Amino acid sequence: MAADTLFDKILRKEVPAEVVHEDEEIMAFRDINPQAPTHVLVIPKTKFESFADLAEADPEEVGRYIRGVARVARELGLDESGYRVVFNTGPQAQQTVHYIHAHIIGGRQFTWPPG
Ligand code: 5GP
Repeated sequence: MAADTLFDKILRKEVPAEVVHEDEEIMAFRDINPQAPTHVLVIPKTKFESFADLAEADPEEVGRYIRGVARVARELGLDESGYRVVFNTGPQAQQTVHYIHAHIIGGRQFTWPPG
């Protein structure tokens, strides 16, 4: 069984977070250490440890999650300016919480390549 993570605790409301969206499928909350004026993390209520694990799931479930991420970005007012969606996966990408989360970051000009 997957280890309990910080985001399991946030989902169970055992750890406080600034929630910006919650429905039956997803929860979205502000990152505690924002890398841009808007930095929100979106988790599915069904837990996957990583992006690779999500990719093995029922395509409908994957689709509902991705649609949820886009909905939150729209609700944050980022559609017109644009935004970045990041799934850090594994050690070299510096994934620190092993509960899948999409970073939605926006509100400033980004550069490429990322650091
Ligand atoms: P990762 O590095 O795994 O892709 O992203 C984990 C994210 O969780 C980081 O951006 C980090 O700032 C954020 N984070 C760590 N602890 C907390 C916390 O207690 N509350 C919230 N809201 N975000 C956190």
